Parts: sequence; structure tokens; C-alpha cells
Amino acid sequence: MAARQSSPTKPSPDKKPSPRKPARKRGPARLPAPTVEEIFRRFEARDPEPKGELEHTDPYTLLVAVVLSAQATDVGVNKATRKLFAEASTPEAMVALGEDRVRGHIKTIGLYRNKAKNVIALSEKLIAEHGGAVPPSRAALELLPGVGRKTANVVMNTAFGEPTIAVDTHLFRVGNRTRLAPGKTPLEVELGLEKTVPLRYRRHAHHWLILHGRYVCKARRPECFRCLIADLCPFEPKTIA
Ligand code: SF4
Repeated sequence: MAARQSSPTKPSPDKKPSPRKPARKRGPARLPAPTVEEIFRRFEARDPEPKGELEHTDPYTLLVAVVLSAQATDVGVNKATRKLFAEASTPEAMVALGEDRVRGHIKTIGLYRNKAKNVIALSEKLIAEHGGAVPPSRAALELLPGVGRKTANVVMNTAFGEPTIAVDTHLFRVGNRTRLAPGKTPLEVELGLEKTVPLRYRRHAHHWLILHGRYVCKARRPECFRCLIADLCPFEPKTIA
């Protein structure tokens, strides 16, 4: 019987190499400093004092509004908090109002059961550990029920004027598309922005970028044709009107 030949280890010469995928067009890893400066110069020139859209009157009502805003629109949260804060706008009043009535006020908002529980629990903790005041410290804020890094950053920025940058879905997208701070996680983008954004623009960077993401650099279809920084942004393909 003839011996079986072992199969060849080398590829046959007439086998075509598999076609390479075309390289995706990407912008630079990160924008050069003069470009970053120009981006924020334009944001500032157009809107020197940008404001968030969650209605509040002090750090406590801001904290509650931000806790309620996870996976909900600011418009929806404002509708609910107008009535809620008319009845309870301090930790003491919120605890006295009770979880059932808080739940009743916010039931139009997603995850309202859990959020009502957190609003009461964080109010109790503020009374027990901070004399009823909102602590001006990210670490202390993050220990409150329902408060993560993003919420703590918003409160630090908006209530206490700190140059923190809270990365939500809009900021995450804008940071990556513009390559101001590319990153795979919100924390990576946040730390990237802290390095990239010049200090003098840092405090308002959060609101400029969030509003830009919400109204211009939209998730499904960015409106590059009316974008203030289109000539500086490496994202391709740009949309046309
Ligand atoms: S040019 Fe387009 S992708 Fe770039 S920031 Fe503006 S809207 Fe977003």
C-alpha cells in the first residue's frame, strides 16, 4: 500500500491572500493644543456663561434633580421636581414627606421606585452626617445613596464652581468624535478632558460640551453643517444640510 502523503504546510502558491480590510479613516489621536484652545475660545465667545437645564434653587435641590435625571430627560425631571420641590426642598422636609409621596411625584420618570428610595436615603444621610447640608466634596458625595461619580461631578461643578467635568452619554460622544479626549469609558474621557482642556475653560467645559452634544453633535446624525467647530473637528464623514 502506498504511504499517505502528509498535507503540505506551505500555502499553495496560487491561493490568493485574503483581501485586507480598508483602513478606517481616523483623525489624530488627540487634537493639538492650539486647536483645543480655538474650540473653547469659540464656545466661550458664543455662550460665556453656559447653564445646565435642570431646575434647582440650591445645592440640595440640584443634587436631587441630578439623581432623578439618570436615564430621563431634563424636561421630564423638571416637570416632576416643580411639584416635588414645592412640597419639599430641604432634606428634612423630604424625609417628612416620605418615600410613598416622593414616588407619587416622580412616577413619570424612569426607575422612579429606586430613585424615590435613594432620595429619602440620601436626605437621611445628609441630616445624620452633614447637618442637612450638601458636602462640597466629591468623595463625600459619592458615599450618598444613588450618587455616582457623574452626579458628584455635576454637583461639584454647578453648585460649588469646581472645574469638574461630568461625562454623560453626550459628552462621551463629543469627546470621542472631536478627539478632544478619545476614550473607551466615561472615566477615560473625563481624565482625558481634564488633561486637554485649558484650565481657564475647565469650569464651563462640561456645559458647553453637553449642550453641544445634545443640540448639534447628536447621536444618530451630527449636524456638522451648522457646527461651530466643524473646521476643527476631524470626524468624518461630516453631514451636510
Ligand atoms: S463637526 Fe460634526 S462631528 Fe464634529 S463636533 Fe461638529 S457636529 Fe460633531
